[in-house]
Amino acid sequence: HAKAAGRNTYQMFTKEMHTAARQRLAMENNLRSAITNDEFVLHYQPQVEAITGKVTGLEALVRWQSPEAGLVSPDLFISIAEESGLILEIGRHVFEMACDQAAKWKKAGVPFEKISVNLSARQLQQPELPEILSSIMASYGVEPGMIELEVTESMTMERPVESVRILGVLKSMGIDLAIDDFGTGYSSLSYLKLFPVDKLKIDRSFVKDIETDPDDAAIASATIAMAHSLGKKVVAEGVETAAQLEFLVQEGCDIIQGYFFSKPLSAEDAEAYLKKA
Ligand code: C2E
Ligand code: MG
Ligand code: MG
Ligand code: MG
Repeated sequence: HAKAAGRNTYQMFTKEMHTAARQRLAMENNLRSAITNDEFVLHYQPQVEAITGKVTGLEALVRWQSPEAGLVSPDLFISIAEESGLILEIGRHVFEMACDQAAKWKKAGVPFEKISVNLSARQLQQPELPEILSSIMASYGVEPGMIELEVTESMTMERPVESVRILGVLKSMGIDLAIDDFGTGYSSLSYLKLFPVDKLKIDRSFVKDIETDPDDAAIASATIAMAHSLGKKVVAEGVETAAQLEFLVQEGCDIIQGYFFSKPLSAEDAEAYLKKA
């Protein structure tokens, strides 16, 4: 009996593994054709200065506009793009689209300060990243001050020494840097001191229950205090309610991003938002 059950479990397990591997491979092939057919689009989520209510920046968030599946969330394809290496090409294209948009808005006098672009771990480990980014900015006529890059805590800690170096190069080019999803990776405070970043983004998992969970409230408050004493600004992600906003403003959080102000918007809707803001 035990043997038969074990064999069945084993067969089920391998069958599931085959299915997962097949789905993964299918997604990888889909991503390849999405690159070829230019099916990626950016949505933009406003970032609002806590005290003045002024829109300072927008985070560019990639979506895959699939002819069959519709608008596909990055959560469903970024990790596969990362593992397969396709993220290098997608990330480069994302950066191009963001620069194109920034140049168009500047030219049209649409008021905004900067567009923030997410980098992946693979991009950060690419030695030629600074050259790639600067040549794209140059070809779209975008000043580095119009761009911010977001890297996650965990991706910088994969190779901390190399990250300090490459972030230093990007910073010296005049690009602002933010640490995304702060508090969810294992961070080393001694490295945090060395990373030349301008902002920390408090992960939305801490914001969600900020009014009811004293631990989350304490983490948010401590992050704000620490960031400020290191001379960095703080962005809170995932702010959905007036009560969350009130708490964060009271604690001195600098910038607010979340559904309370706006969901990520298509370029067209983002432009309308910026014009009336
Ligand atoms: P992220 O960089 O931390 O982006 C914030 C995510 O939180 C976005 O999800 C945004 O839509 C969502 N969000 C913002 N405000 C709220 C809120 O008030 N409530 C809730 N429930 N969610 C909120 P999205 O667009 O699905 O992106 C998910 C993740 O995919 C991003 O997390 C980022 O890690 C990754 N990603 C997106 N675009 C790119 C890209 O161009 N390159 C790379 N490498 N990763 C990207
Ligand atoms: Mg981000
Ligand atoms: Mg985040
Ligand atoms: Mg995230």
